[in-house]
Amino acid sequence: MTQVDVLVIGGGPGGTPAAMALAGAGRRVLLVEKGAGLGGTCLFEGCIPSKILHESARRLEAIKHAGEFGLRLAPGEIRVDWKAVMARKTAILGRRAEGALQRARQIPTLDVQFGSATLLGARAARITPRDGSPAEVEFASAIIATGSVPNLLPIAGIELPQVLTSERLLEIADVPERLVVIGAGPIGVEMAQIFAAFGSQVTLLEAGPRILAPVDEEIALALQSHLRRQGIALELGVRILQIAGSDAGVRVQFRDATGAQRAVDAQCVLEAAGRSPNVDGLGLEHTAVRYDQHGVKVDGKLETDEPGIYAVGDVIGHPMFAHWATAQGLALAGHLLGRPARFPTPASNTAVIFSTPEVGIAGLTESEARAAGHEVRIARYDYRGDARAQVSGQAEGMLKLVYDQASRAVLGVHILAEGAASLLGEGALAVSSAISVQALAAAIHPHPTLSESIGTTAREVLASGR
Ligand SMILES: Cc1cc2nc3c(=O)[nH]c(=O)nc-3n(C[C@H](O)[C@H](O)[C@H](O)COP(=O)(O)OP(=O)(O)OC[C@H]3O[C@@H](n4cnc5c(N)ncnc54)[C@H](O)[C@@H]3O)c2cc1C
Repeated sequence: MTQVDVLVIGGGPGGTPAAMALAGAGRRVLLVEKGAGLGGTCLFEGCIPSKILHESARRLEAIKHAGEFGLRLAPGEIRVDWKAVMARKTAILGRRAEGALQRARQIPTLDVQFGSATLLGARAARITPRDGSPAEVEFASAIIATGSVPNLLPIAGIELPQVLTSERLLEIADVPERLVVIGAGPIGVEMAQIFAAFGSQVTLLEAGPRILAPVDEEIALALQSHLRRQGIALELGVRILQIAGSDAGVRVQFRDATGAQRAVDAQCVLEAAGRSPNVDGLGLEHTAVRYDQHGVKVDGKLETDEPGIYAVGDVIGHPMFAHWATAQGLALAGHLLGRPARFPTPASNTAVIFSTPEVGIAGLTESEARAAGHEVRIARYDYRGDARAQVSGQAEGMLKLVYDQASRAVLGVHILAEGAASLLGEGALAVSSAISVQALAAAIHPHPTLSESIGTTAREVLASGR
């Protein structure tokens, strides 16, 4: 029987970096991935394909607004070549998957096998390869990094072929004329705006009172107005009753916030009502690992109830982001190598929602900071007065700096602006190192860039003496 130091199950952004860090330090590691290549949901069905479509949609929007910049295009010249958009996506994914595998293959003590792993007990697993017969492996430690799968709402009609997961929508053969999106979380909002930009008539149905529940309320409400101005029919506080076939394709029946029963027709429906841990077929019943619908249970060092078996990424629950899974995987690898490891905490996490405008989040929201016991102060910046934003023609948006009154340490940076994604690196550094407002104010931010918004906001805090 093969024996390894560490078995890593799942080759996504959580498992792959952990496996590479451990093997890079000389540990014998077996990384088992049941999908098409290394990269996980992020590469094949999530972050990257959705951002490739987002990029085309963004450029299309920019072309539509060319007139504002003094550029005249003859009407009717812009058309979306969907096949070319999809071919570009396939090419980028292929390049990235190949690169990831090449990098992994360069590490002599890292064995990458394509197939599925099932735990047989606390120290053994069966590997069923894509081609070939199953074999057993013994390990000293294991890392479960099997990710998440879409939640399927318990409603009639959810099984209809026109009801798509994000994975299937990202592979759709044509842009649908009408699209219903169920769920206004990050995936639902991004997809609604992407397909609206490509010309779909989009209805976005959300059960909660606002979009993007965990995001700062002021920012989420401002983004709601953008969605509506883009022509997306946003319905909040709805209850989906059923989905049925119709002449158009499907009819989604729902009760709206006033209690009235309504229906909307579309070619297809994106069901984006959250994700659950992927534990099917993993053999957890042969171990002491506990889990529920929110995820595999782990302690502060990411160890499950089965000593020696750890878990990282989406499989342990929210927040479900690629960089969060990677941060956990790398911290765990360091810990298993006996190095002092700093496990990531939500207080220093970051997230970008690739909406229009983008939402960037680093650290705690105002309400999270208060709940954590801080004496919270907020400083705001309005991009309408910002030089770079005016030059770009995208001058709507806001920045909120959340800081502790006594120490003036930055607790959170929240941005709604086109360009928030790139701007957020500074916010990430600020919250992870608890940088003070004074330090932000002292940094020289180049002009004219959006980064000046951070320096200016910090200087205004100091000037106001707050
Ligand atoms: C549409 C969409 C857009 C997204 N956009 C972003 C974004 O912009 N930014 C961001 O940070 N996050 C984004 N995410 C979330 C991101 O994709 C996940 O948080 C991230 O992929 C989680 O990494 P992971 O390693 O935990 O799991 P995964 O990436 O899901 O990887 C798990 C891997 O385990 C494999 N596996 C499962 N079971 C077994 C088994 N028994 N044996 C062997 N292998 C197994 C799976 O095949 C999979 O490859 C998006 C997600 C979606 C769906």
